[in-house]
Amino acid sequence: RRAKQDRTGVVEWTPGLDSTQRVDLRQLTELRTGLRAGHLRLHYQPLHDATTREMHGVEALVRWQHPQRGLLPPGVFLPDAERSDVILELTDWVLAEALHQAAAWKRDGHHVPVSVNLPAAYLAQDRAVRTILAMLELERVSPDLLTVEITETAVLTNPDQVAAQLSELRLRGVRVAIDDFGTGYTSLGLLPRLPIDELKIDRSFVVQMHDSPAHATIIDSVIAIAKALGMKVVAEGVEDEQTAADLASAGVDLLQGFHLNRPTPPEAVPLLPVRPLVRIV
Ligand code: C2E
Ligand code: MG
Ligand code: MG
Ligand code: MG
Repeated sequence: RRAKQDRTGVVEWTPGLDSTQRVDLRQLTELRTGLRAGHLRLHYQPLHDATTREMHGVEALVRWQHPQRGLLPPGVFLPDAERSDVILELTDWVLAEALHQAAAWKRDGHHVPVSVNLPAAYLAQDRAVRTILAMLELERVSPDLLTVEITETAVLTNPDQVAAQLSELRLRGVRVAIDDFGTGYTSLGLLPRLPIDELKIDRSFVVQMHDSPAHATIIDSVIAIAKALGMKVVAEGVEDEQTAADLASAGVDLLQGFHLNRPTPPEAVPLLPVRPLVRIV
């Protein structure tokens, strides 16, 4: 059996598609139930200032605490979720949870900007911006504490609508990052038209920069382009000190990777001690 395609071009999923397209419906149903039962978790991976190495903020990364299979990474369940509407409910949860955590840190005296991954399908909803703004208000979190990360693919599925939504968010103070930059198909000509604060260079370039002069050159070019357009540059997948030092001297603003910190539950995020309040009498 094959996928049926109707006149609107919408593909209806049927069993029997090739294995790359197969959706594990049982797991997907279980995910929806698990989500509603409170089995999802967010881990947070710090982003560090490339020069001072101070923690600058965190990226929220979803996990599934499965009752039988243990803690599952997103690669196991997100691709299927993204082919269904489960991704919308999941993203609502991720946003709410991440903002709730940012608010909790703030109450404890910590200023921790949080980045959240936003899938294309989420931004395609008319309610996306309204929902995000309502959540910020509910948690009384200042919009500039939130960065939304979107991929190039997400931008390209509907550049005008996505750009409009992102502009609206940015107008309210939310920051916008392009994730995994370099792996998609964004034409460079599109970049100046997009409302973006940050480019995140994909890990595949970062891990190869020492073995491949071409990758190092690409990184230098991305930094030059980002700077020219007034964007910050983040490098993900920094796994050793040499890479961290070289990226810093190349002009990368923020570093993220196992060399600096792994994703952890919120209570293990290495926050700076809160400065004691000094009263002058
Ligand atoms: P991403 O947004 O590019 O996130 C970075 C991924 O790289 C994370 O994997 C992180 O654990 C991993 N990583 C960070 N530093 C290093 C390093 O030095 N070396 C290596 N080898 N890996 C590193 P994770 O948590 O498995 O997430 C994978 C992808 O799943 C994410 O890539 C993102 O695309 C997606 N994802 C994760 N959480 C969410 C979410 O809440 N919502 C959505 N829509 N997507 C998410
Ligand atoms: Mg990301
Ligand atoms: Mg990334
Ligand atoms: Mg990545």
